[in-house]
Amino acid sequence: GQRNPHQPEFLQAVTEVMETLWPFLQANPRYTEHALLERLVEPERVVCFRVSWVDDAGQVRVNRGYRVQHSMAIGPYKGGLRLHPSVTLSILKFLAFEQTFKNALTTLPMGGAKGGSDFDPKGRSNGEIMRFCQAFASELFRHVGADTDVPAGDIGVGGREVGFIAGMIKKLTNRADCVLTGKGMGFGGSLLRPEATGYGLIYFAEEMLKTRGKSLEGMRVSVSGSGNVAQYAIEKALQHGAKVVTCSDSGGTVIDEDGFSAEKLAVLMQVKNEQYGRVSDYAARVGAQFQAGARPWQVPVDVALPSAVQNELDEADARTLIANGVQCVAEGANMPSTNEAAKAFEAAGVLYAPGKASNAGGVATSGLEMSQNAQRLVWTRDEVDARLRCIMQSIHGACLQHGQRPDGSMSYVTGANVAGFVKVADAMLQQGVI
Ligand code: NDP
Repeated sequence: GQRNPHQPEFLQAVTEVMETLWPFLQANPRYTEHALLERLVEPERVVCFRVSWVDDAGQVRVNRGYRVQHSMAIGPYKGGLRLHPSVTLSILKFLAFEQTFKNALTTLPMGGAKGGSDFDPKGRSNGEIMRFCQAFASELFRHVGADTDVPAGDIGVGGREVGFIAGMIKKLTNRADCVLTGKGMGFGGSLLRPEATGYGLIYFAEEMLKTRGKSLEGMRVSVSGSGNVAQYAIEKALQHGAKVVTCSDSGGTVIDEDGFSAEKLAVLMQVKNEQYGRVSDYAARVGAQFQAGARPWQVPVDVALPSAVQNELDEADARTLIANGVQCVAEGANMPSTNEAAKAFEAAGVLYAPGKASNAGGVATSGLEMSQNAQRLVWTRDEVDARLRCIMQSIHGACLQHGQRPDGSMSYVTGANVAGFVKVADAMLQQGVI
């Protein structure tokens, strides 16, 4: 706390990991030697820089850019870029810390990082987005590289922004290296990368339900958010026979008791991805109910998939979901549940998966994009999908293996934290004090 004042999200993420690791560390004290834990909570490098650009009115604007390079212990730094006015060093440090463990869980050789800016893309023209991204890339390019650090998308950074940033870096370096993942198919992208986080989330939720002899077929599902993760989670949930009754954005929640259909999802994708509109516009177009300012958690469901933003589901929301009979909560977003909410789910016996396990399909597929770029090959959609399924199953297996608590109960939080930690910690111990 003293060392990281005004960084509540970072302290929250560290607390959650350290609390769940504690029994494991007591049983395996070698992991507390060589200041391993002290090193793990200190990012290897933090870069902070000015981003100045010119808006459509000719006015010069200034934003703050960041790249937090948390750990290179098991591979090049890897993690997304977030463009949102709420971005702070605390949020990026929490995301980079989580990313290190998540990437370790994927079984692929990737370290952890995160970056972005407090730039607000809402209401900005295409030209403004491009000029901002180019200005951002004109500093970022010094710190990244195919074998150093490979950023990707996150909130506010989709295919369009990845293209602008990758294009500028290519121009500045005169190299076509894989410096970003989530690229367009015409310039080094991987099939299924856009779908990967949402699809992976559903594959993971199916594995969780299977442990209780259940499946998504016929289940009522609530999704929060309406961006990249939410859209493809909805698509895959529908393919698995679920009834998806909500989506949301920062303006409010859509409640649709008839459930999403493929046709309605196509409208949502058009509103969000082509018109950069709001879910309230979507609700009006399909005739669904819209509750301004509301979150989806008061709607009774069997499965909840929080896929918007950190701390969007608090203890009171968790108690409402539990009282309404929720059986499974799998996180599409990073740290959407507060630590108190997560504990409430586990205490109530709800199947609860933290984002670092259940949303790892996106970065895993980014890892597959890096492999394809290195080989100068493009794998088929089926090949990428098969690998994604396999990776999600393997992460689920690792959670089961490491998630046994002293009282015999099973915790995905413990499982994900211990499994990710052991891999990073072993790599650090083998590489000495660096
Ligand atoms: P997008 O930018 O595509 O979508 C973000 C969604 O979250 C939008 O619907 C946005 O609504 C909503 N949102 C943002 N802030 C708030 C808020 N304060 N309250 C309610 N809704 C909010 O981002 P992604 O779908 O890529 O990311 C969503 C989450 O998933 C993030 O936590 C991200 O870190 C995580 N994630 C993403 C991965 C990926 O591959 N993309 C991989 C792993 C995790 P609005 O338009 O109103 O801002």
